[in-house]
Amino acid sequence: MMKLFIDETRCKGCNICTMVCPYSIFTPGDTPNRRGIYVPVLDRPERCTNCRLTYLYGRQLCGVCSMICPDQAISWIADEPYSARCVVIEY
Ligand code: SF4
Ligand code: SF4
Repeated sequence: MMKLFIDETRCKGCNICTMVCPYSIFTPGDTPNRRGIYVPVLDRPERCTNCRLTYLYGRQLCGVCSMICPDQAISWIADEPYSARCVVIEY
């Protein structure tokens, strides 16, 4: 799985990303970071087309947010591969 990532050291809180995502994954931030920037908050980013399907199709499928961000603050990082959790049931 891919994971959507906002680089807080680059983001300037312009909120353009909140306007372009077809799934409204970016929502305006409500708490300033150490630089006083209101970095957008991600709402269930696993819904992102790229997060879900990049590996399946072998290429980027949307990427509008990343393309439009004026500060190149949006990218995808490899998420931890899914691992089944063992559940121990004691009788
Ligand atoms: S478009 Fe880029 S710089 Fe603007 S709020 Fe979104 S991540 Fe930050
Ligand atoms: S790649 Fe597309 S679907 Fe995914 S967060 Fe960006 S704009 Fe939204």
